[in-house]
Amino acid sequence: MDACGRKRPERARGPRPRQKLALQSQILTANLQRNLHSPARRLRWPPVHGEPCSWCGATVDPEDGLRAAEPAGERKAAFCRLEHVVPWAMHGAHWDAGTVEFQGDDPALSTCAQCGEAVDDARVLLVRHRGEFRVADAFCGVDHLEAWARAGGRYS
Ligand SMILES: [Zn+2]
Ligand SMILES: [Zn+2]
Repeated sequence: MDACGRKRPERARGPRPRQKLALQSQILTANLQRNLHSPARRLRWPPVHGEPCSWCGATVDPEDGLRAAEPAGERKAAFCRLEHVVPWAMHGAHWDAGTVEFQGDDPALSTCAQCGEAVDDARVLLVRHRGEFRVADAFCGVDHLEAWARAGGRYS
């Protein structure tokens, strides 16, 4: 009767390591695909700390460079220097999904730094990083961000 009554020992159930591996390889694939879009970063793996310039692909140090954002659309871009805002804007302003870390309520950010008009929720922010300091300007749109950058920005 032992063939009928005996139960097979159950295997211990727990998180299967295979699932974790699958997730890691998904992340890896996503990173690789993203890198392929910017030739300058294609050979950099693992990625260095920092994000690529949205125009030239050079790594933008977290404590340097500029970040642009359109908070309403949760879109962002990074620039190694102000001059790269201009060609980026001229070529259609390709944003990445995401937000920038600047969350200030500076009253200066309610008007466009270029034309002085009040900006609404569709505003574009440009945040300059200098070490721990963040200096932000607001714009009514990418057009005026470009015009402002072309003129040399805040320090012109
Ligand atoms: Zn650049
Ligand atoms: Zn404006």
